[in-house]
Amino acid sequence: MVDDYSVLGFETRAIHAGQQPDPRTGAVIVPIYQTSTYAQDGVGGTREGGYEYSRTANPTRTALEQALASLEGARHALAFASGMAASDAVLRTTLRPGDHLVLGNDAYGGTFRLIDKVLSLWGIEHTVANLANVDEVRAALRPETKLVWCETPTNPLLGIADIAALAGVAHDAGARLVVDNTFATPYLQTPLALGADIVVHSTTKYLGGHSDVVGGAVLTNEDDLREQLFYLRNAAGAVPGPFDAWLTLRGLKTLALRMERHSDNAELIVQTLAKHPKVSKIYYPGLPEHPGHEVAAKQMRRFGGMVSFRHADGEQAALELVSRTKLFILAESLGGIESLIEHPGRMTHASTAGSTLEVPEDLIRLSVGIEDGTDLVADLTAALG
Ligand code: PLP
Repeated sequence: MVDDYSVLGFETRAIHAGQQPDPRTGAVIVPIYQTSTYAQDGVGGTREGGYEYSRTANPTRTALEQALASLEGARHALAFASGMAASDAVLRTTLRPGDHLVLGNDAYGGTFRLIDKVLSLWGIEHTVANLANVDEVRAALRPETKLVWCETPTNPLLGIADIAALAGVAHDAGARLVVDNTFATPYLQTPLALGADIVVHSTTKYLGGHSDVVGGAVLTNEDDLREQLFYLRNAAGAVPGPFDAWLTLRGLKTLALRMERHSDNAELIVQTLAKHPKVSKIYYPGLPEHPGHEVAAKQMRRFGGMVSFRHADGEQAALELVSRTKLFILAESLGGIESLIEHPGRMTHASTAGSTLEVPEDLIRLSVGIEDGTDLVADLTAALG
């Protein structure tokens, strides 16, 4: 067995970290430990591994957590039943009534909904700020601010925040920086190494990678915080089942290959869209004219598979386009091997309508898959007309 996985390359860690052959049978792939409970040797006497009940811990989930921690360069990982369950655990562990957080002005609609509509009922306050502007973030901080909650790239406008700069601003104010790393994945960006305190993931997306499982994860280097998160997860119970943990672990193994291909195909599509008269604006951090391009180039390995653009002919034309593609499937979510297309204003981000996070009505979001890139370009070009 390898002593120190941290010295190994990303692809090697994705396949081996936390995933040694099964000690009982030699099974090369971590088994799905489909069990709710574990035999004890006498009252209170758990066997090797310390497992007693699967809400608390399960060996398939443990393997996933060890692999995730290794990929993010984190001391601790905790897997959750969904990305929202992971975010909820972070918010409820780190905030108390009267506390305040700063949230980006472009964020996943579900995160905004949880903070704006649910946590507000428990006395948690928030301010929305443009996280690409460090001065605006500094101005939004209050003595009660405990968190700065950041997505980069953002969903759906692909905005970029400087993680190291935000960490500095948050820490000066005694707050923690949380980065939702769902869009980038640890293959493209590792926020903890840049100064972030907590990383959250919707593992439903690129980490699972095959649109067949819903899950989430929290990563941190803080031992006390890990204990508090573990306590809440066990108390509240938002855990992934063993099969879901296994599917996510299976997805992780090919993450590096997939992210390279997602990025290749996205670049090809962006080149095509840039020349198309029906496209009035493209949001992709790989474009040199993107306002966050330099920061993205500094903190990301590549620019990923998410592309958003605006239809020059307005909302109706955007709605018709998303229904016309044949390979790009009209669906919510992202990060799977297959290409998806959606209208954020009416679908994923409908909950932001009328708020400061409202998205343009002619906006279209693509999750570019790993198909043959020329087929994807042909599909989009035909649908654009
Ligand atoms: N964070 C981001 C950036 C997302 O896009 C999503 C879902 O789309 C979530 C969090 C929530 O994850 P889940 O759907 O797994 O609960």
